[in-house]
Amino acid sequence: MTKIASDKRKKLTFNLLHLKQGEQKIYQELTNTDLDIFKFNFIGPVILEVNLFKNGDTVVVSGTVKYKLSLCCVNCLENFEREFSEKIYQEYVKSAAAKSVMHSHLEEVDFVRDFYTTDFFDLTPLVRDTILLSTPVAFWCQPDCEGVK
Ligand SMILES: [Zn+2]
Repeated sequence: MTKIASDKRKKLTFNLLHLKQGEQKIYQELTNTDLDIFKFNFIGPVILEVNLFKNGDTVVVSGTVKYKLSLCCVNCLENFEREFSEKIYQEYVKSAAAKSVMHSHLEEVDFVRDFYTTDFFDLTPLVRDTILLSTPVAFWCQPDCEGVK
């Protein structure tokens, strides 16, 4: 087993050299420890389903991250569960190849573009940020929750 594969925190690290050109599907189940997220109560694993599309030194990642949370309604204080399904999209561009890209078009697409300098790129920050940004701070169990009875 390689050092990368044995490291629990590196479930989502890929070696560019080991990826074949074109598309491949990735399915990965993740825990809060994998993602370093401890502010939410996850029910079951976080499920990541993505396509990796490799074209030279660029890898385009698109797919969904699904997770279920146990939440407490801020209005009635009851616990409830809610499922989330969030789209993710990111381009990973190896830095040597990135310079020409950056010069040729500085546009809004840059916010989904990440640069990596070794042959490894890590999807963990993408999944982590997606969950943190997609999950509101406060929840109501339902829109017409009547509050504490
Ligand atoms: Zn409620």
